[in-house]
Amino acid sequence: MQIPSSRAVASDWLVVTDLDGTLLDHAYDFSAAAPLLRRLEQQGVPVVPCTSKTAEEVEQFQAAAGLSSPYIVENGGALHFPHPEGWQLEMPHQPTPGGGVVVPLGWPRQRLRPLLDALAAELDTRFFALEDLSQEDLMARTGLSPEGAALAARRCWSVPFVLAEDQDVEAVESLAAARGLKVLQGNRFAHLIAPGSDKGLALEVLRRADPRRRAVLALGDSPNDQALLDGADHAIVIPGANGPHPRLRPAIAAGDYQLACASHAVGWADAVATWLAQG
Ligand SMILES: [Mg+2]
Repeated sequence: MQIPSSRAVASDWLVVTDLDGTLLDHAYDFSAAAPLLRRLEQQGVPVVPCTSKTAEEVEQFQAAAGLSSPYIVENGGALHFPHPEGWQLEMPHQPTPGGGVVVPLGWPRQRLRPLLDALAAELDTRFFALEDLSQEDLMARTGLSPEGAALAARRCWSVPFVLAEDQDVEAVESLAAARGLKVLQGNRFAHLIAPGSDKGLALEVLRRADPRRRAVLALGDSPNDQALLDGADHAIVIPGANGPHPRLRPAIAAGDYQLACASHAVGWADAVATWLAQG
């Protein structure tokens, strides 16, 4: 893979990326993209994680990847600026313990949780919220360490859950929408979030905070990334082992999304380096 010259990579783009299934593989490995991530950080091109993960999980990723950029957590539930200098924060925000700020965009988890139980009752089924799973079950489903599973369970703005085996996620999404809520399908879990708070809305807020009004290159792999991909200036889908997610295929076929040449960090680094080299 060719990493573009330093001059080419210092472009006027923000890179906004999903993590699980996009930059990270199922073992949470992103090593094939690590050199490019370091280079982008050094050259002032923000790489903004936009993920269903919690803030504490993303902080771990940022430290491992050497990133200091803002990040979007819990499917757009909040936008964090760990280093707010240089960003225009005109929207309501709160300080965080490490000297950063957080812009809340969704509803608190405590408000969402009873609404998930009400949806399940209406569908005459039961959903298993991530916070209800035993640590062993959560580790088995996610491949996380005990510490990682604990961080993943500390939700503030969303309620991830597992559907019953015979449950159709699209029926759950429709009922949620009819009740003024939003359910999004991710890699391992479905996610109940506040209406109107998705990765696309978080992207709009990020754009408003960017004084340079840079163009956005977005990358994702799942239906919960569609609002992000649709809100970007250029959208790249990262395929899984069996190709792109079936629900993203129509937009790829229509030419709205570019399909990366390989899965996870390999495809991510190739697609980002190639796109930024073009200008
Ligand atoms: Mg994903």
